[in-house]
Amino acid sequence: MIAGIRGMLTTLGWLFKRPVTAHYPDQHLPVQERYMGFPALLWDETAEEPFCTGCMVCIRECPTQCMTAQMMDNPKFTDGSSHRRKIIETFEINLNRCILCGICVDVCAFDAIEMSYEHELASYGRAGARADLPTLLDVGRNYQVEASWVPENAEKNVARVALAKKAAAAKAKDDGQKAEGGAAEGTDGAEVDA
Ligand code: SF4
Ligand code: SF4
Repeated sequence: MIAGIRGMLTTLGWLFKRPVTAHYPDQHLPVQERYMGFPALLWDETAEEPFCTGCMVCIRECPTQCMTAQMMDNPKFTDGSSHRRKIIETFEINLNRCILCGICVDVCAFDAIEMSYEHELASYGRAGARADLPTLLDVGRNYQVEASWVPENAEKNVARVALAKKAAAAKAKDDGQKAEGGAAEGTDGAEVDA
């Protein structure tokens, strides 16, 4: 009898607590900051292009071989608005085969790929799981905003910063050469006692 009353009280107590479940897909619970969803490509807004140079390292290291990509010469490198000689032309990840291991992120030296918060890209067709370059960049852009993402190595990978660094180095070299030239002229013009 007492046990029954205790049971009823426990049940009644839960009626006034906030539910921890949600009516998916109408309601979505927020994901944790450390959540690892599908991999996504990131966007360098300072050059209006992806960070990805198509170096293929992630593609070689992916344990399920679910990524493919193609690189091309970067026209923005030629006109001086980017420091990337090569840029990605196509990129595809077969999300059916991705095991969300994060190895592609760990091996990328260009801050070009991250495990996003996206986990809802289901579709009715098998080919629907193939995320192409625009899709991967869209997911990446959302992730950059949601996570307030900042690149680990901005000096090397953010176009504006890398170009400014390159320009500063070139100026320092130029100044150094001018100073050396001036010193040499001064020596040439100096009178030398016999
Ligand atoms: S998370 Fe792992 S399996 Fe998925 S694309 Fe990256 S390396 Fe491949
Ligand atoms: S994501 Fe990174 S490792 Fe993969 S191809 Fe692009 S630059 Fe290379």
